[in-house]
Amino acid sequence: MSADDYYDTLGIPRSADDKEIKKAYRNLARKYHPDVCKEKGAEEKFKGINEAYSVLSDEQKKAQYDNMGHETFTNASKGSYTGGYGGGGGGFNTDFSGFGDIFDFFGGGQRRSGPQPGADLLMRIQIRLENAVSGVDRDIEVMHTEPCSACNGSGSETKRLNTCPRCGGSGQMRQAARSSFGQFVRMMTCDQCGGKGKIPEKTCKVCRGSGHSRIKRKVSVHIPAGIDNGMRLRLEGYGEAGDFGAPNGDLFIEVYVQSHEQFIRVGDNLETTIEISPAQATLGTSIDIETIDKRHLDLRVPPGIQYNTALKIGGEGVKRRGNPGDLLVRVKIVTPRFLSNEQKELYAKLAELEGKSSGAGGFFSGFMGKKKGKK
Ligand SMILES: [Zn+2]
Ligand SMILES: [Zn+2]
Repeated sequence: MSADDYYDTLGIPRSADDKEIKKAYRNLARKYHPDVCKEKGAEEKFKGINEAYSVLSDEQKKAQYDNMGHETFTNASKGSYTGGYGGGGGGFNTDFSGFGDIFDFFGGGQRRSGPQPGADLLMRIQIRLENAVSGVDRDIEVMHTEPCSACNGSGSETKRLNTCPRCGGSGQMRQAARSSFGQFVRMMTCDQCGGKGKIPEKTCKVCRGSGHSRIKRKVSVHIPAGIDNGMRLRLEGYGEAGDFGAPNGDLFIEVYVQSHEQFIRVGDNLETTIEISPAQATLGTSIDIETIDKRHLDLRVPPGIQYNTALKIGGEGVKRRGNPGDLLVRVKIVTPRFLSNEQKELYAKLAELEGKSSGAGGFFSGFMGKKKGKK
């Protein structure tokens, strides 16, 4: 299919090692996977990427390829390898195995022979910030498959399995095919056992031989204090049921923390804001603070506090075990816009006093002086 050099296809130098090859392949496969990429020609590109990887990830094939060069190698391999995609003449049995772990959540990946572990499931939940701060227990409902109780997950009424007669237990079937290059053998997943290599002795009527039943379960999840946006919890075995004899998949719970009206989270600290008047800022005051879990604390604001100063209340942040964060209370000083006559008199008096006591040249006196002058 692609006439491109396999190294170019993966965008790596010839000196690339296993890790780099795998990394390049994963990035590209993720990008051009037909389930994900709707770009025109993505499928062709995806096939090309897989073809290149199937050669470069195999030590023996890679050595041959490096030796022979692209032209010779691809021509030589026609007819001897199988065309996984049929009709394309590409000539490689592309292996998806490197791949399942990326696309678990999309249900992707290709069946390999033998009993398969169950697929992982991903669930997203939203929690409030106060729950992320203190931790919370949540009951969630998960719809997943479990081993059929009638046949213990075997798919067989007798709970016995026989070796598949078609593939002899390998799960793979050879199929001879003719093409213009001559006869070659194509490896395919066995269509009788679906690649499992075994078939039920007597098909279970409850699950029709699948060995699985679909069940809604309530699961209690402990969400630990300190959890942050996008973090995932893993519940082992709560994914989909695996093939008979293979483990279940896992359930991943991705947590989203909603924003809070009053508090923001900065690492393990929480921040909130209070507003006080210039008089309170000057003389000092005491403010009632409601914590995120609705307790009330008395916060002493010292006299002479400056705008935007953060006052710390220890241990009232994220309650991570052993090392809880703090609550930072940021002080905003709000200048009154409307004054009663009495207030106005007092402010005028204050301004007058400031003018006298700080003398000329001070910032405040200059400022006040100008303002006065305008009136
Ligand atoms: Zn079979
Ligand atoms: Zn069953």
